[in-house]
Amino acid sequence: MNIYFFVFFLFITATITLTFALRSWQKGVSRTIYFSLLLGSLSTGTFSYAMELWGGEETSKFFWLMIKYAGFVLTAVFWLLFTLHFTERRQWLRLPYYVTMAIIPAITFLMLLTTSQTGWMFKNIRLWEQTYLIFDYGPYFWVHTLYMYTMFGLGFSFLYVWFRQKQPLNTLQWIGLVSGISIPFFTNLIVVFRLPFLAPIDLTPLGMALGIWLIGWVLFGVNFSGVNPIARETLIESLKDGVIVLDTHRMITDANPAARHLLAAPGSLIGQPLETAISDPIVLPTLDIADTYPHQEITLPNPGGEPRVLDLRASPLVDKTQLLRGWLLLLRDITEQKKLQNEIKKQSLRNAALAEIELAINQPHELAGVLRKIVDTTYELLPAAGGATILMWDDEARSFEHADSTLPAEDLNHLLLRARQGRGSASWIVANRQPKIVPDTHYDPFGDSSLMVANSILAYAGFPLVANGKIVGVLYANDTQPRAYLEDDLRFLQTLANRAAMAIYRVQQFSQVQQQAITDHLTGILNRRQLFNLGELEFRRARRFNRPLCAILLDIDHFKMINDTYGHAKGDQVLKNLAQFLKLQLREFDILARYGGEEFVIILPGADFANARNIAHRLRKGVEDRTMINGSVSITISLGVAELTEATPDFQALINQADMAMYEAKRAGRNRVAWLE
Ligand code: GH3
Ligand code: MG
Ligand code: MG
Repeated sequence: MNIYFFVFFLFITATITLTFALRSWQKGVSRTIYFSLLLGSLSTGTFSYAMELWGGEETSKFFWLMIKYAGFVLTAVFWLLFTLHFTERRQWLRLPYYVTMAIIPAITFLMLLTTSQTGWMFKNIRLWEQTYLIFDYGPYFWVHTLYMYTMFGLGFSFLYVWFRQKQPLNTLQWIGLVSGISIPFFTNLIVVFRLPFLAPIDLTPLGMALGIWLIGWVLFGVNFSGVNPIARETLIESLKDGVIVLDTHRMITDANPAARHLLAAPGSLIGQPLETAISDPIVLPTLDIADTYPHQEITLPNPGGEPRVLDLRASPLVDKTQLLRGWLLLLRDITEQKKLQNEIKKQSLRNAALAEIELAINQPHELAGVLRKIVDTTYELLPAAGGATILMWDDEARSFEHADSTLPAEDLNHLLLRARQGRGSASWIVANRQPKIVPDTHYDPFGDSSLMVANSILAYAGFPLVANGKIVGVLYANDTQPRAYLEDDLRFLQTLANRAAMAIYRVQQFSQVQQQAITDHLTGILNRRQLFNLGELEFRRARRFNRPLCAILLDIDHFKMINDTYGHAKGDQVLKNLAQFLKLQLREFDILARYGGEEFVIILPGADFANARNIAHRLRKGVEDRTMINGSVSITISLGVAELTEATPDFQALINQADMAMYEAKRAGRNRVAWLE
């Protein structure tokens, strides 16, 4: 063979290979630099061989020989890296493995540089027929050769296995692949084992070039998904959605730039377990439930900002035999969407809560329920993680009354106590009739540190409850972090405060009217009408449960004289104080009522006749022994006692019996107790 024809052929091959390298690099055909590097080093090796044969000097030939071997050892490295990448064994593409793979090539470089002295790579280098540099193999040559075979062998088997599993190849492509794999081996075998018919020409560069061209054609000509492979790769790389490929061990084998960006990954995600990249637990669908598998929402902490929310869809990746090979994860940033959704949800929840409160307000007996609803709403629908509280203000007594709160009872009591002592912001709010907004309690002049610390209250907003121009309380929303309150939140809090004020005001009005209807305006005890209401209940209860029931009717002796002596106003005072005295003598469930002018009725549920008479005696004695107005005005009373018997037809009859007994007492000389036998 004409050697220059062969040299020319080598140059052409090197040029074509280099062109492929540049093209694949520019177009990003394989989305990896390894394929371009592979072609580049192959081109270098081929070119060096051409130069080796072409050059005249033995030293220059030796120089190109070294470059050739260096080029091919790199070809082997890039070949393995490329096949690892292409066959999705990307967990190997990490620094520790790079270093490991680089050990032998590094030694090879060293051996090449020192081989003239050591002879470890080549021995007896000599020129033959003025053209060929020939040599004997040093011991390291076999290490180098073994390394080359191993690297190419591994890469070929990765490709072979991968294509066998994925089955995307047609017959022609299979032929291309198998030829591409075989050709470099055969050509190299010829050289290494010095098969006689071609020596000393080395066909390996040509074999390798041809093989790699073929494989390149197969690899990048294959239609994987109906989409042009270039477009498909580019599409995934430039997609705004994050794409992550997992293997069956939940290891990330591929991730596009968007995924890295969304997960704020500091480096490549490849080779990491999924758990390292996403700390939220992620359930991956098995094949049987893949279709119904729901989206997942994952929350990513975002230092220095609001946490971000990602929508994650996972679908299993299966091969032709329906075997699970891993998962494809699609990630989409839905933080904004979520925020908007939450905003809308919050608004509708707020509206619903207001409607409920409105309804409750129109049920006057429901004050406790309304207030509870308002503190709960404040707690849930405002930034009030530190709790919500309502204190009621009694404008007449100028004091804070019982209240409701989401805080623990002892904290509420503590707060109430402080407010009653005029400390804390509640008094300030009432006095100034103004809201008190404290974005950071560290700077709050009213802050009660123990309370604030116990509930970690770091910010609060307190609103006065004003209805019809009257202050009826204070509403607080406490937060566990300092915050600048939003206009919208404060408006809602103001609305809640207005509702609370209305509810309290109405109930106060209502109970005032109700109180007036059942009490005697002079003495404050029950009036005659209420006596009959409650008395009839007691009468029925006693009958039903067969329990004793007694009544005492008492009348002040010669009261006309008291009026005449001290005046009508003093007389009133006596009536009031007598009522007070009687009330103190009685049990809580006894009924005391003003029956008429200076006549009182006492109903004693559960007291038998003897018992009731004792009580009557005690009362008579008590009144006799004391003065009614600060050391002056002594009075006596006459009392009639009656007992409920089988013969008593109704409550009125019981009172009548007591009345008759009372007249007995009067008749017998007053200041005594009487009863009908
Ligand atoms: P006795 O019952 O011992 O027979 O003599 P009495 O003087 O109490 O007689 P009577 O029951 O007839 O008179 C009741 C008096 O009580 C008449 C009235 O002036 C007086 N009285 C009734 N209601 C009031 C009231 O609200 N205030 C005052 N100051 N006096 C009243
Ligand atoms: Mg009387
Ligand atoms: Mg009297």
